[in-house]
Amino acid sequence: MPPPGPTAPLPEVLLPATPLSRLEHLVGARRLAQVRDALRAARTRLAGREVWHVSDNPTRGGVAELLRTTLPHLRGEGIDTRWVTIEGSREFRAFTKALYYRLCGVAARDHEDVPDPESGRDVYEQVSRAAARRLLGVVRRSSVVVLHDHQTAGLIPYLREAGCVVLWQCHIGTPLDAERAGPAWDFLRRYLSAAHGFIASYDGALSAGPPDVPIRILTPSINPLAPKNLLLRPAAEASRLMARIDRDTGSLPVGTPLVTQVSRWDRVKDIPGVIEAFTDHVDPGFGAHLLLVGPRAAGDPQAERVLAECREARERRPNQRDRVHLVQIPTDQPTEHALTINAIQRCSTVVIQKSLAEGFGLTVSEAAWKGRPVVASPVGGIRQQIEHGRSGLLLAHARDLSGLGAAVGRLLADPTYARELGENGRRHVRGRFLTDSGVLGLARILSDVA
Ligand code: UDP
Repeated sequence: MPPPGPTAPLPEVLLPATPLSRLEHLVGARRLAQVRDALRAARTRLAGREVWHVSDNPTRGGVAELLRTTLPHLRGEGIDTRWVTIEGSREFRAFTKALYYRLCGVAARDHEDVPDPESGRDVYEQVSRAAARRLLGVVRRSSVVVLHDHQTAGLIPYLREAGCVVLWQCHIGTPLDAERAGPAWDFLRRYLSAAHGFIASYDGALSAGPPDVPIRILTPSINPLAPKNLLLRPAAEASRLMARIDRDTGSLPVGTPLVTQVSRWDRVKDIPGVIEAFTDHVDPGFGAHLLLVGPRAAGDPQAERVLAECREARERRPNQRDRVHLVQIPTDQPTEHALTINAIQRCSTVVIQKSLAEGFGLTVSEAAWKGRPVVASPVGGIRQQIEHGRSGLLLAHARDLSGLGAAVGRLLADPTYARELGENGRRHVRGRFLTDSGVLGLARILSDVA
């Protein structure tokens, strides 16, 4: 296929229109009635205007998951919702990844760090300009445009200038090290200051960020009917999981306790830290194995580097090597991929999310919805999802390796307690983090800004 011309539209993710009624048996008619009221108000105020979402990519990570599982319900209830993704160059992707590590206040290796983000300004602006031109070829001037995360912030001034209502939605959490993050937030500020408003996952998430304009809170949510979360038949889930593990790591005896972290191969997820905590602080007597699950890394140089470092971390512990598995799940068939992740989460004895910073951390709610006990860092949006000791366990701090080992050991030793945390976690997610809550929040914001 020839490369797109400069004014070809940006690639669009085609969204089905899914009625909210599909969720009724899970969340009840009363909750849905409230969402429908909010959507009706938003529809009236939008008066036919389209709502565009712009993100970095259609498949990888939490933003893609969130948009893919929420937006169809807005379409299903008559809000004209569209989603396009920007196609950055390799250089743009390398720069925005380095910027992301900085925004999160997380250290990167020398060659992938940007101590002075100004060095990437030209590349960033070139891609932003081209993407804005392509977007403005199809977006009506009165539309509402929601731009997601740092990769799309450069489009804000162009869209505002064109007459759109522009919101920037930030899925990045409070930085681990504010000083390290400072230059990256300074870099973005120039673009952010042109937005009409901001959306963040939790109160305080944007303290490092933008200027003094309204910040609306929109708590992310998971869709219980999506392939990632729907109920699987036990036999199907077990065989799916075993097939994957067999291919990647050799088979495990049936009944092996599995301790799992599902995440992109990314430094912010501190996968080497999980390996260290598990091998140094979880008693091998439990017979548990550690699964570190992520998307296939080939073709993504940044992910490949992190994966290589995870392999090194595992090789440094040769006597523990056999109980640590790095599992890459193919991404070429998104539904199959999501079902496989679903199966792995359901088959896990304990689920970990040891992020160093996190806007929300969908994997926490995904696991809790499946009744799994979760142990996680007390950072960003994870804090909303886990009430420590009731619906999961929070570490004392993001680098608490011995605490992670102790928490995992406690849950392996006490299945009754683990089950109780899982059941409470599922209830907590049902109350606050299912799709209808996300649609309700977005409908209110749209009403407000329209
Ligand atoms: N995910 C996935 N496959 C993987 C790793 C992660 O589908 O191999 C999904 C995961 O289930 C979740 C999302 O990617 O839905 C990650 O979202 P989260 O908010 O946890 O983190 P982010 O990637 O946005 O930093």
